[in-house]
Amino acid sequence: MAGGNDEVESLKCAVVEAGKAMHEAGLATATWGNISALTRDRRIMVITPSGFDKSRLNPHDMIVMDLNGAVIDGRHKPSIEAPMHLEIYKSLEHVYAIVHTHSPMATAVGVAGEEIPPIILEMVAEIGDRIPLAEYACAGTRRLGRALVEVLRSANAAIMRNHGVIAVGPSLKAALARAILVEEAARIFIAAKILGKIEPIPDDEIKLFKAVIGEWKTIQRIQNISEWIKELKSIGAENQED
Ligand SMILES: [Zn+2]
Repeated sequence: MAGGNDEVESLKCAVVEAGKAMHEAGLATATWGNISALTRDRRIMVITPSGFDKSRLNPHDMIVMDLNGAVIDGRHKPSIEAPMHLEIYKSLEHVYAIVHTHSPMATAVGVAGEEIPPIILEMVAEIGDRIPLAEYACAGTRRLGRALVEVLRSANAAIMRNHGVIAVGPSLKAALARAILVEEAARIFIAAKILGKIEPIPDDEIKLFKAVIGEWKTIQRIQNISEWIKELKSIGAENQED
């Protein structure tokens, strides 16, 4: 099998684990939502079956498909959203895992027809300058996948209008963490709206934060924190006179 049997078997286990974690994080409502992962050669997708509680999945329940949508292995029906997952994998080459939830707070933001502006730093670091709102399209269609591809070109997660959340990543761990973060950001967004107005992080501060994160990633090891302070001065994140 393309992708290798061992790799496919380990992806099945990883999807099962992600399903349990999604359930524990309160992101799964009944049997709604679905999860998939792609082999490194981008030829085989492992996806959750239709109509299953995400806390009770087993590796042998998983559906194995090629990117044309043909079922290679699996004794159940694939998720109704398989065309959406396939459309995303075919269009976005950096994506190897997709988590789709109907988590309630983020779905509420989508029902209100809003996107989430940059309100917290972890959102900017993990998802993008905003959590965009994807146009409504019917569940189970490739059209829904195409609407999501549009917004996922500039963000690692999106709110799906009157539907739920999509989060993508290079691994299931990353996609799941982002799905959790979307729900957290939505909760903060709604709470802040109740308290008063939303004050997003200013554009220049977002730029600076990204530069700081970028510098941090390039440094392998720091022996003394003063070395880090020097790095920050070099990108203007610390006042020279400090
Ligand atoms: Zn859905």
